[in-house]
Amino acid sequence: MNRTEYNKMYNKKYREAHPDYFKARAEKTKDELREEAYNKQFTGQLGKCACCLKHQSKLTTSLVPVRNRKTNKIKLLVCVDCLANTYLDSKYSS
Ligand SMILES: [Zn+2]
Repeated sequence: MNRTEYNKMYNKKYREAHPDYFKARAEKTKDELREEAYNKQFTGQLGKCACCLKHQSKLTTSLVPVRNRKTNKIKLLVCVDCLANTYLDSKYSS
């Protein structure tokens, strides 16, 4: 058995053993849309936190999207520090 055949067999077995994994992969377009929305917002905010205006490059973690609870659309991107405050701040919760 050559390597390609082995991989094929392995993939088939893996697929059967992990149907959820492949189901998740099939929904990749959803993730892509999500990433697109994130990037659009990120560019719109010039890569800065919407609250404290710290630039992504000055942060150790990625900016976190704050979503509209009804539409699930990204409203803002904030840093982790501001996210904690965001939940306390009623002006961002709708
Ligand atoms: Zn911030």
